[in-house]
Amino acid sequence: MTALLEVENLTVGYGAAPVLHDVNLTVEPGQIVAVLGANGAGKSTLLRTLSGLLPPQTGSIRLDGHDLRKIKVEHLVRHGIAHVPEGRGVVTELTVEENLRLGGLWRKPQPSLEPIYELFPRLAERRRNEGHQLSGGERQMLAIGRALAAQPRLLLLDEPSLGLAPKITAQIMALLRDLRDRTGLAVLLVEQNVRSALSIADQGVVLSLGRIVTRHDAATLVDDAELRHAYLGF
Ligand code: ATP
Repeated sequence: MTALLEVENLTVGYGAAPVLHDVNLTVEPGQIVAVLGANGAGKSTLLRTLSGLLPPQTGSIRLDGHDLRKIKVEHLVRHGIAHVPEGRGVVTELTVEENLRLGGLWRKPQPSLEPIYELFPRLAERRRNEGHQLSGGERQMLAIGRALAAQPRLLLLDEPSLGLAPKITAQIMALLRDLRDRTGLAVLLVEQNVRSALSIADQGVVLSLGRIVTRHDAATLVDDAELRHAYLGF
């Protein structure tokens, strides 16, 4: 079976010096993979590269076997990749509904927003409110909702728990797991909150100084004291 995402020997940087070195990673349909690692390890850089915002220096990225570099950035959404960047990127001057419509802009026909409102009833209540009127948790839901409006097969999610109360984080994690179970969505989840990420992930990869230093089933990473001490620091 072809993996949904196949990254091989990927090296990426902002200038000449690489930030990611020789990264290899696969994500299967319906798999949740947590990308863990200290600040500056290169997690956001990995997601930016996968969503076409940064060009690889070397290596290859394939989506369903197709070379990602041959797909224009604006078409990546049609090919099933959606990115929720750190800091969320909600357009604060637009309403909830307008933000959600932006998510589906590249899809033809334009997708209905009803499934998103069913998933996030709070966004339905707030549909006429502008982004700046939302709480942190609502903005994060909106950012995820907007990405889902593009009907992705692979969701690249950067630090969804940032600045959120543990209860909201838990809700978002549960929702991701449900979505995966119901729709086969695959998720590459960058998270500082290691425990909550591994609570829903199938696998965890640990990045250190731009290299993948280990990859295991999430349960093994959590249960094996040696691995936990070595790579997760708890
Ligand atoms: P964090 O959790 O702090 O965001 P991270 O693991 O996501 O950490 P990245 O943001 O990918 O790490 O950063 C990896 C390295 O790339 C860091 O050394 C950072 O300084 C550098 N870097 C990130 N963004 C840029 C940029 N726009 N220009 C130059 N260097 C950058």
